[in-house]
Amino acid sequence: MTIREELLKNIRRVEPYVPGEQPQNKVIKLNTNENPYPPSPAVKQALEDLDTADFRLYPDPASSVLVKALAEECQVGEDQIFAGVGSDDVLSLCFMTFFNSDKPILFPDITYSFYKVWAQLYRIPCVCPGLDSDFRIVKEDYYRENGGVIFPNPNAPTAIYEDLGFVEDILEHNRDSIVIVDEAYVDFAGRSATELIGRYDNLIVTQTFSKSRSMAGMRIGYAVSNPELIRCLNDVKYSFNSYTMSRAALVCGAASVSDREYFEENVRKIVETREWVKDQLKNLGFVFTDSKANFIFTRHPDYDGKRLFEELRSEGIYVRHWDDPRIRDYLRITVGTDEEMRILLESLRKKTAK
Ligand code: PMP
Repeated sequence: MTIREELLKNIRRVEPYVPGEQPQNKVIKLNTNENPYPPSPAVKQALEDLDTADFRLYPDPASSVLVKALAEECQVGEDQIFAGVGSDDVLSLCFMTFFNSDKPILFPDITYSFYKVWAQLYRIPCVCPGLDSDFRIVKEDYYRENGGVIFPNPNAPTAIYEDLGFVEDILEHNRDSIVIVDEAYVDFAGRSATELIGRYDNLIVTQTFSKSRSMAGMRIGYAVSNPELIRCLNDVKYSFNSYTMSRAALVCGAASVSDREYFEENVRKIVETREWVKDQLKNLGFVFTDSKANFIFTRHPDYDGKRLFEELRSEGIYVRHWDDPRIRDYLRITVGTDEEMRILLESLRKKTAK
């Protein structure tokens, strides 16, 4: 049946975000920036300690155990944390809450592709300044009038991290706009903009448990800001769905935060592997940005990116590729275990030696 024009015109329609493939068979999965290591054993214990009889009850709508743990971890008040179902949920609510002006919001042309989808979904006008020829964000492009600013740091898929001076400059030039810094990958990079929360009332920082905490499957993300903006976010959440986070996610999230030693070791291993892979790729003639994330954004000057992507895929090695003209020769490769990366490098070595 085809839906009639009269019906279609009142339906909200959007070109959706396309998530990376989630193959169900056994493959080397380096395509969605998951962590190859399990979460802290404390998470397993928390799950075992759960009384399933409690599942009949709704979870705490304020997510208190998790919010408390995160507030301590980030050294802010509990009223400065907002927890959600992955940072996608948190970011989507931020778009709805804070980008509510007729002026266009600003984000880079090459960045997390979900931003464009949310802008379209919520009918927020947007302008996307181009990255420079080294794939860096040009901060002066964000000095113009706008309805809000968002960028990831490190940016995705470029993996480039800008220091806090850069972030502060954008905050300074946008005192009357909300600036969201999406720090999905910051734990692999450097200092977090959460340090600036006390000084800039226009700043929101989002982070996730999906990468450095190995918990993509649990769906936990959060925002850190001042109490006023967090209250605005909560008001919208409670107007939408009060019970967003499951009982399991709340206790597992808190357990993960309690094990700082494991977290630091996990991050250290990924960073070490990343640096080793960068060296190896260089030897094979690949070029890449100075990755500070848990993935590497790379191309080979003599090889077509799409072809490499497809050939790797046919061998059961999944990486990410976009058909966007500016980055079509690039692959985004998640940092896996040393063993997974050895298999990848061996395959790339054979291909590029041809
Ligand atoms: N921001 C960026 C830049 C990302 O790459 C991702 C991962 N796809 C997210 C946010 C969302 O991650 P999650 O919803 O798993 O927290």
